[in-house]
Amino acid sequence: MDFAFDARTEELRAKLLTFMDEHVYPAEQTAEEQRALLASPWDTPQVVEDLKAEARSQGLWNLFLPDAEYGGGLTNLQYAPLAEILGRSPHLAPTALNCAAPDTGNMEVLTQFGTEEQKKQWLQPLLAGEIRSAFAMTEPEVASSDATNIETRITRDGGDYVINGRKWYISGAMNPDCAIFIVMGKTDPDGDDIRRQQSQILVPRDTPGLTVKRAMQVYGYEDHSHGGHAEVVFDNVRVPVTNLIGEEGGGFAIAQARLGPGRIHHCMRLIGMAERAIELMCRRAVARTAFGKPLAQQGVVQNWIADARVTVEQLRLLVLKTAWLMDTVGNRGAHTEIQSIKIATPRAVVTILDQAVQLHGAGGVSQDFPLAELWAAARTLRLADGPDEVHQRSLARREIKKYL
Ligand SMILES: Cc1cc2nc3c(=O)[nH]c(=O)nc-3n(C[C@H](O)[C@H](O)[C@H](O)COP(=O)(O)OP(=O)(O)OC[C@H]3O[C@@H](n4cnc5c(N)ncnc54)[C@H](O)[C@@H]3O)c2cc1C
Repeated sequence: MDFAFDARTEELRAKLLTFMDEHVYPAEQTAEEQRALLASPWDTPQVVEDLKAEARSQGLWNLFLPDAEYGGGLTNLQYAPLAEILGRSPHLAPTALNCAAPDTGNMEVLTQFGTEEQKKQWLQPLLAGEIRSAFAMTEPEVASSDATNIETRITRDGGDYVINGRKWYISGAMNPDCAIFIVMGKTDPDGDDIRRQQSQILVPRDTPGLTVKRAMQVYGYEDHSHGGHAEVVFDNVRVPVTNLIGEEGGGFAIAQARLGPGRIHHCMRLIGMAERAIELMCRRAVARTAFGKPLAQQGVVQNWIADARVTVEQLRLLVLKTAWLMDTVGNRGAHTEIQSIKIATPRAVVTILDQAVQLHGAGGVSQDFPLAELWAAARTLRLADGPDEVHQRSLARREIKKYL
């Protein structure tokens, strides 16, 4: 294993760190002030568009895409330290560089499985940052961590497919710029192979029958900067058969393909969030005095900071090892490591953020520091992209199998 950053990574890191200092951190406050004045909180503040233009002009654009024809052409190991830096400002930086979920996964799916026509119509504007997108799988009525439960129907009718179903927690869908949905549903609900029942299909936002009903909350937050998490109803939504991605029955395999990179990107950004929390902890601990001495001199505070540093170093090494394995033996060969980081990282980062909140007192739960919102975001990653327990189950089964 060699995790040393190569010359290209070092160059991009230096550029990105400067971009964060000069443009992203100063824009955090501005974005909130501008959003408060918008006609709808789901619209995009001008400062975000300005950041996108600046990032693009500096070549800091689509870095997540390993395919050099479309994006940065970086390996996972090269992208990992960059995604970590983006995670320090998770509400702005990933969007500024066109590296925000769920667009990233959707773009990857279209590059790998899209037809030339689908690429022209949807991938190109996504790559250009002109539109946003959503991925609609989870349903309120069924345990959606088990994809075989999905009840949405995609029924062939002549030259069209007709879609009926209800989805929720569809990230990005509240943003009016979200022009395209990738919808997962069943084309063959009674098929013998439960992994071949599902398909994925492109549904433009303006298709009759598609209704974005309401914004679901996350611990009371609406996540405006992420375009929210919507409940979406599909009522006899009709799209041409050419909107199918890949083949009928290929939905499950496509979902698997998108999740490997998606999970590691989340973990990389989470480590950046943890670094931001450590920085805030240290700054607060030296600046605040209680009972005659700075908080930084309290043993308990020192323990929190030390433990946070140890944890982050461990997590980063595991994430880098996973990235390196994905690059060298492929996502399948890195299965155990991908699941390990998906289980370990959100859990540990939630604890670090919780201690950072504690150290900040009431300020920690307030809107004046980013900690409360970061905590809520990190906590959801124990659910999103598969709950901890589902990954634990599958990882444990593989371990046990060796002894059967
Ligand atoms: C902020 C946020 C954003 C999201 N964005 C999207 C999105 O863009 N698109 C989308 O489609 N979905 C999205 N989701 C949904 C997310 O992917 C699902 O919530 C997740 O897959 C779990 O599905 P579920 O909520 O139906 O939980 P369920 O499947 O009902 O599971 C509930 C609980 O049951 C337990 N459980 C389940 N299976 C097992 C098992 N095998 N062993 C032990 N325990 C188990 C776990 O504790 C689990 O948390 C998002 C969720 C959140 C919170």
